[in-house]
Amino acid sequence: MSAGRILLVEDEKPLLRALAMNLVARGYAVTEAETGTKALTALADHQHDVIVLDLGLPDMSGVDVIRAVRAYASTPIIVLSARSGSADKVEALDLGADDYVTKPFSMDELLARLRATSRRVATADEAVTATVGSVHIDLTLTTATDREGNAVHLTPTEWKILDVLLRRPGKLVSGDALLTAVRGSSEHTDPSYLRIYLAQLRRKLEPEPSRPRHLITEPGMGYRYRP
Ligand code: CA
Repeated sequence: MSAGRILLVEDEKPLLRALAMNLVARGYAVTEAETGTKALTALADHQHDVIVLDLGLPDMSGVDVIRAVRAYASTPIIVLSARSGSADKVEALDLGADDYVTKPFSMDELLARLRATSRRVATADEAVTATVGSVHIDLTLTTATDREGNAVHLTPTEWKILDVLLRRPGKLVSGDALLTAVRGSSEHTDPSYLRIYLAQLRRKLEPEPSRPRHLITEPGMGYRYRP
């Protein structure tokens, strides 16, 4: 069984080759890309389990690759950063990268990050329960129960929205990403669609729907579940 399919994005050819050989030897299936454009094409062609992404690419910034990926996919991203400054790493993490490794790094270090990332993803697919206000939510069973034990009825669309937000506690999810998860595409969809559903969810779940504390709107950015 393959350990997983990795998209490896790195423009330094010797490093790209060395990483690919090491990963293949450890049972990973590897797609190699030397530019951001090739990386985005490879992602459109194949499902990948993890993206390992150099931030300094010849045709576009790795940060722009993250932005493009996160507009439609939640594939885990581990950033390779040559720079010692932390600003680019913070920006990468803010945009949705999951972890980073600073060059030069050892193969063992990268492998450890890959294993940790895969574990996090596996956990996200297991039973997930969360609390919004006083409502207990089980995403696996799709049950919502208030403090008195009464069922709270949620529509299929509301469940889809909660599924995206509650599995990523604290993480900012862009409006486009949320629309894509709910509708399969963010095109031809009025952004007010999300506002209406979020307002509905707050009425059902938030103790004070007009002053949400858990289902947060970040104006111009997206939405965030705050536990
Ligand atoms: Ca580079």
